[in-house]
Amino acid sequence: MPELPEVETIRRTLAPHILGQTIKKIQLLWPGAFVLPAGVTPAAALRRRSVASLDRRGKYLLLGLDNGATVVTHFRMTGSLIYYPQPAPPARHTHVIIHLAAGQLHYADQRKFGRLQFVPPGELGALACLNKLGPEPLGESFWLEYFAIRLNGKKTPVKAALLDQTIICGLGNIYADEALFQAGILPFRESGGLKFSELFLLYDAVRLTLRQGIEAGGTTFRDYRDADGQSGSFQNRLRVYGRGGQPCLVCGRPLQKIKIGGRASVYCPDCQH
Ligand SMILES: [Zn+2]
Repeated sequence: MPELPEVETIRRTLAPHILGQTIKKIQLLWPGAFVLPAGVTPAAALRRRSVASLDRRGKYLLLGLDNGATVVTHFRMTGSLIYYPQPAPPARHTHVIIHLAAGQLHYADQRKFGRLQFVPPGELGALACLNKLGPEPLGESFWLEYFAIRLNGKKTPVKAALLDQTIICGLGNIYADEALFQAGILPFRESGGLKFSELFLLYDAVRLTLRQGIEAGGTTFRDYRDADGQSGSFQNRLRVYGRGGQPCLVCGRPLQKIKIGGRASVYCPDCQH
């Protein structure tokens, strides 16, 4: 599932191809992937509009049009957006093709949980899925004291708090497990029970891990690709995620795997406290 570093990588690789381009046509191979307000057709929403901006909020990609409308992409489990400089036949599971003045943008999604959502001009501020998001972990509004206040008194496991998009947005299972290992904190610890010194380590670890993920172009296990169709390389640098039962890279003891809030969590019982 694309997390912050993967969506940021898609944004960075896509922007130079599509900014300023005019949309010629939209082709829906599976109409369910493109969500529109009642009475608006895909052609009326997008045709002859040009791409004015490409932003990211948490795990959402926001494609801004010249009239103030926005196409919000929710990648969910297996969504991908790939730019083709030349017209390309749709790969399997391609649901939407946006024909640009030069090239095409293909949205594919094997599991069909992701969506492209058209938001008319002026209505982005009212979009519930964006409104409830906490601060960007790499932005200026995420600071240590905020983190401490949000976790204060919380009984939930710290892993669950990291995945709570209303506290900070953009972290998923991969980067949450890696950040907890980096900080040396057990995932099932009570959020409100962390010492200030531990919060400081975790705050730093979250930001460091996400930055390293972006530098590596994201993590590719199966589906994730950037907008040029390239894999990321952060999977080669993972220390705990997906390594349950394997030896810890620091101490050599077997890594443990448990479920927290229904999600698999891998940690080292020796290096994390
Ligand atoms: Zn260890």
